[in-house]
Amino acid sequence: MFDYTHQNCEGKNINLEVGKVVCVGRNYMLHIQELNNDVPEQPLLFMKPSTALCSVVEPVSIPSNLGECQNELEIAVLIDKRLTKATHDEVVNAIWGVGLGLDLTLRDVQTKLKNKGQPWERAKSFDGSCPMSGFIPLSEVDSLTALKFNLVVDGELRQQGNSKDMIIPIVDLLVEISNSFTLMPGDIVMTGTPKGVGALKSGEHLTLELMDHFLLKTKIVEL
Ligand code: ZN
Repeated sequence: MFDYTHQNCEGKNINLEVGKVVCVGRNYMLHIQELNNDVPEQPLLFMKPSTALCSVVEPVSIPSNLGECQNELEIAVLIDKRLTKATHDEVVNAIWGVGLGLDLTLRDVQTKLKNKGQPWERAKSFDGSCPMSGFIPLSEVDSLTALKFNLVVDGELRQQGNSKDMIIPIVDLLVEISNSFTLMPGDIVMTGTPKGVGALKSGEHLTLELMDHFLLKTKIVEL
C-alpha cells in the first residue's frame, strides 16, 4: 500500500515527490445539473491526501458497506514548480503535464455530510480514492482547452468530457487555487468531473481514454 509514484505514459517514474491532490467540485454545468447543485460563486475546493493516490491500471478497490461509490473521471494536472499567488504565465510554466484521475466518491456518505454541513473527507479522501493514470508532458499537449476524455464501464459510455466545457479553465483554476494555498512540486490538481457519475460495482471493467494520447483498462474490486 502507498507505493504510488508519479509516472509518465510509458510507465517510467517522474522525479517529483508525491504531494497533495487539490480537487475542484462543480466545474462542468451538466454535472452541476445532474446532482441538482448550485453554481458556485467561486471554485469549490477540497483536498485528498497523498495516501489517496494509487495507480489506475492496478485493480481499483472500492469500499464495501458504505453505500454507493461513484466514478468521477477528471483531467489531472501534475505540478512541478512551487506556485504561490501565481500569475497566468507562472502557472503555465509550472505544469509538468496532464493525465486522467478518478475522484472516487462515496455519494451516500457525502450526502449525509453535506446535509450536516460537514467536510467531505470521509466521502472523498479515503485510502485509494484517487486512482491516477500516467502523465503526458505539457509539450505534447496541443491545447489545455480542448482535451477530450471518456470513461466506458462494461462496454457502455458513461462519461464524456472536454476541457473546453469547464466553467473555470485549467490555467485560471490553478491561478485561483494558488491564491488560497501554495501548490508544491509533485502536487496534482483534479479539474472537476463532467456529467455521468454513477455507482461502480465489483467486477466491472473500465476503459479510460484521453483522446489522441492514451487508453487504459482497469477493473473494480471490492475491499
Ligand atoms: Zn470530482
